[in-house]
Amino acid sequence: MRIPIPAQLFERLLHLQTERRWGDDVTRFEDTVCLFPGLGPPLYLTRDGRILAGPCWPDDPPETRSATDDEAVGALVLGCKQYDCPELLAFLPPRPDAAMTCPDCSGTHWFRGQTADGQALEILCPTCGGRGWTPATPSEGGSPRAARRVRRARTASSTGCHSDRASETRRPRTA
Ligand SMILES: [Zn+2]
Repeated sequence: MRIPIPAQLFERLLHLQTERRWGDDVTRFEDTVCLFPGLGPPLYLTRDGRILAGPCWPDDPPETRSATDDEAVGALVLGCKQYDCPELLAFLPPRPDAAMTCPDCSGTHWFRGQTADGQALEILCPTCGGRGWTPATPSEGGSPRAARRVRRARTASSTGCHSDRASETRRPRTA
């Protein structure tokens, strides 16, 4: 994915990154902003609008590859939070007419629940990957990987009201 990032916006992010010392080995060698430092591969935005994924482990060489579309969506949503920069959400893929609002984040991009010990939990929505919408029917693209991530998130969260609410908001299965 490549986004038409305005030069001013990139400079603002770069300035924040420098000011807050959020850079890493990749940003030292390339003109990039780290939108998300990991878990999983760290994700970067280049000055010309490319979104890159970096090495998963600190000892790996600081090499990057093009982020997948799912990673790029996550990078924009996570970067929005990291830099308090809602402008990044404007570059998310447009919602198709037939799409439905994501049942697990209600279009907010964030899945909210509780950890087993009762702490508030807010993670990038594993159902929509942060898009805020899902295809109208599961057969049009609900991926098994996303479903597994949802199950993992639910396992990690408490069995209290959050799970009940989540099950109520599941989309009905078509017969
Ligand atoms: Zn969602």
